[in-house]
Amino acid sequence: MKITSISVQDIRFPTSRSLDGSDAMNAAPDYSAAYVVLHTDSNQGLEGHGLTFTIGRGNEICVAAIRVLAPHVVGRTLDAITLDMGGFWRQITTADSQLRWLGPDKGVMHLATAAIVNAVWDLWAKSVGKPVWKMLTDMSPEQLVACLDFRFVTDALTPEEALAMLRKNISGKASREQEMLEQGYPGYTTSAGWLGYTEEKIRRLAKEAVAEGWTHFKQKVGGNLADDRRRAAILREEIGWDRKLMMDANQVWDVDEAVGQMRQLAAFNPWWIEEPTSPDDILGHATIRQRIAPIGVATGEHCHNRVMFKQLLQAGAIDFCQLDAARLGGLNEVLIVVLMAAKFGVPVCPHAGGVGLCEYVQNVSLFDYIAVSASLENRVLEYVDHLHEHFVEPVKIRNGRYMPPQRPGYSIEMLIASRSRYAYPDGAAWV
Ligand SMILES: [Mg+2]
Repeated sequence: MKITSISVQDIRFPTSRSLDGSDAMNAAPDYSAAYVVLHTDSNQGLEGHGLTFTIGRGNEICVAAIRVLAPHVVGRTLDAITLDMGGFWRQITTADSQLRWLGPDKGVMHLATAAIVNAVWDLWAKSVGKPVWKMLTDMSPEQLVACLDFRFVTDALTPEEALAMLRKNISGKASREQEMLEQGYPGYTTSAGWLGYTEEKIRRLAKEAVAEGWTHFKQKVGGNLADDRRRAAILREEIGWDRKLMMDANQVWDVDEAVGQMRQLAAFNPWWIEEPTSPDDILGHATIRQRIAPIGVATGEHCHNRVMFKQLLQAGAIDFCQLDAARLGGLNEVLIVVLMAAKFGVPVCPHAGGVGLCEYVQNVSLFDYIAVSASLENRVLEYVDHLHEHFVEPVKIRNGRYMPPQRPGYSIEMLIASRSRYAYPDGAAWV
C-alpha cells in the first residue's frame, strides 16, 4: 500500500464563546486541529488520520508546516515506513537540516511532525485491523523497541533496558488486557473546574460528576487567590475529602510565588499542582517540588521532547508525567517517554482534553498499563467533556473510567461532517 497524497485542513471549534477550556494563562481558547489525511492506493480505501492540537490563531501555521513535511510520507509505501519505524522518525525529524533549524524537536515543526507521525500510526493500525493500544501491546519487545529512536536519551534509558522492562511484563499482559476490557482505565475530570465558570456552574458540574462515579477532580488556579480558595472550598463541599482534588496553574507563577500560593492552597489537600511555573524550568519544578511536599508536582503538556522529559526525571522534578500525544513528535517519542518514566518510577498521567487528545492518549495509557508499568497506582488519565461527538469513535467513559476503544486505528478520525462544518474560515460554523 502506497501513500499517494496528503490533505491538510484547518479545523477550529468556537469554544471561546462559552469559556470552555479557560484557565489562568489561556483566557479564551478556540480548540483547533491541524488535521491530516494520508490517502492511499489501498483497495479498501484505507486512510491514515492524525491531528495536532492548537487553541486557535496560528493553527494555519501548523497547517503550513505539515505541508512542508509531506514529502517524507507521500510516495512511500506503508511497509517501507513501518519496517523501520525508528528510522522513519529519525528521518522526519532530522533528515532536512534546514527545517530542523526551526526546532529542533520543538515548536510548530514538532507539532506538525506529531500530526503526520500519528497519521502513519493510524494507517498502520487500520491496516492490521487493531486499535493502536492493541497493536502496541501485541508487539514483541523487539518489534516495539525497533520503532523508537533513542538518540539523546541513552544516558537515561538504553534500548536493552527498554527490552528488559517489556520482557519482564509479558506474562501478565493477557490478564491486564482482560481487566481493562472489563473495567476500563481510571480517569479524572477537569470539566467542573474551568476558571471562567461561575460558582453555580462549578457546583452543579461537580455534583453531576460525583453522581457519575468520578473519584478525581481538577480545578484551575492561578487567577486570584481568594477566588481559587472559594472555588476549592465549593469543590471540597461537593466531592468531600476522600476523593482527590488536583490543581492546575497553567504556568502563571514564578518559582517562589508558586511555593507561596500552594502553601495557601494546601488547606484543601491538593494531590498535585500542575504546571506551577514555566514549562521549560526543570530546576524550578524541582525546587517547587522540594518546598511544597507532600503536594505532588505534575507537568508535561508543554514539554516538547524526550530530552526535556529525561531531565525532569533525572532532576527529580516531577511526581507525575503528563505527556501530550501531539506536543511530543508523535507516538514514537511518546513511547520513549512512557518507558523512561517507568524506569524512574514516575507514573504517567497523560494530558488530555482539547480536541481529540482524550481519544489519542487512552491508547497510550492502556499500553502503559498492559505492557510497561503493570500498575495503576497513582495513575489517572485526564478527561474533559468537550467535542467528543465529532469523532468516529468517541471515548467511552463508564464510572469514571475509560473503556478501551475497539475500532482499528489511533481513535482520532473525525467525522466528515464536522471537518466540513468547522473548517476555518469557510465552514458553516464560522461564516
Ligand atoms: Mg493542564
